[in-house]
Amino acid sequence: MDECLHMASVTEAVDVVRSIATPGSTESVPLSEALGRVLAETVRSDIDHPPFTKAMMDGYALRSEDGSAGRELSIVGQVAAGAWCDDDLLAGQAVQINTGAPLPPGADAVIRVEDTTVTGDRVKLNASVAAGKNVTIRGEYLASGETVLDSGRRLGPVELGVCASAGAARVVVRRRPTVSILGTGDELVDVSVKPSRGQIRNSNTPMMRALVEQAGGRCADHGTVSDDVGVLEDAIAGGLDSDFLCLSGGISMGAFDFVPAILEKLGVRFLVRKVSMKPGKPTIIGVHDSGCRVFALPGNPLSAFVAFWLFVRPAIDGFLGLGDGELRWVAARTPDVLPATGARENFWPGRLSLDGNGVLTVSRQAWQGSGDLFGFAGASALIRRSADQSESVPGDNVRVLMLERF
Ligand code: AMP
Ligand code: MG
Repeated sequence: MDECLHMASVTEAVDVVRSIATPGSTESVPLSEALGRVLAETVRSDIDHPPFTKAMMDGYALRSEDGSAGRELSIVGQVAAGAWCDDDLLAGQAVQINTGAPLPPGADAVIRVEDTTVTGDRVKLNASVAAGKNVTIRGEYLASGETVLDSGRRLGPVELGVCASAGAARVVVRRRPTVSILGTGDELVDVSVKPSRGQIRNSNTPMMRALVEQAGGRCADHGTVSDDVGVLEDAIAGGLDSDFLCLSGGISMGAFDFVPAILEKLGVRFLVRKVSMKPGKPTIIGVHDSGCRVFALPGNPLSAFVAFWLFVRPAIDGFLGLGDGELRWVAARTPDVLPATGARENFWPGRLSLDGNGVLTVSRQAWQGSGDLFGFAGASALIRRSADQSESVPGDNVRVLMLERF
């Protein structure tokens, strides 16, 4: 337990997470299955882009020395997209051409059809065109062999289009980590059940499942178990063969908070025992010999959310080798009064917007504390305030963790 931080600051705990957030193994997948995955290779193009010099407009290809307004050229042919023309275009000649079609040799500009008048096989130019007008030169975007995507990029729709253009029918991506989740508590019942006396519905594991999937993990949902040492031990042991195990509840100082002792018994090495923050103080971060990274999160729904966002998500990002996996901290102005903070760092749910001058602004959610998930719904940020701060003044700048991309 020597290496364990018994009361880590948020920054120290985030550093611990970084140290255990090593990238996982890789696999090759077809493009059709690659949406949302993270690249683990550099993708290079196997051809020039564009692969030939082409027209960007429907119109007439010509030699730019013939491109003055008022000129009349003779139409000697037509090139459609997908066709090819080997014949040199001579002085005084034009070829009808479509968007995406290759320019004939000798042509170096295209006049838009809207800027012409056609009579029989003659075309009159109603505007001047200079060399290169409405044309993209072979290799203008990039040359064969050039990098189109770096390792560590998450693949969105545009990136998939880029891979397809570059000839990457399959891509090497990071394996999605398996993340086991388990809720604990005698009081918990499923969403389908109307709670009877003393019971509450389990909101944490549905929320954690969504957080895991949003982060790119593969969730193994172990449901919830009662606060019974034997049952808990079996359930926790069953999650230790995954890449991550995420527990909620049972880690405070109560008589039925058995989780820490069971984790130790099962050989989980604690790296963080508590974090000096509110909400989320009783958070445990550890590792098991199986390679499993263990996160025991508080039972209070918002505490579980904050601890997940600060610690579990970056660990999953690290496993995925995400280059941009860092937490997104920004500064924002708040028109609201935030309460004095006390001995621990504070996180308060907020909503980001831009004021009339384009200044990033955050307003606090009406929120009753760590059990109140309802007051948290709709938050797009967490406002972070250090310990021992007095009440804030309207207009103060605060540090904000973005929960959505802005
Ligand atoms: P604990 O950390 O087990 O002491 O739980 C702290 C608070 O969170 C208690 O009020 C629990 O009833 C509540 N809680 C624990 N687990 C869950 C859960 N899965 N869903 C909703 N609330 C929970
Ligand atoms: Mg409990």
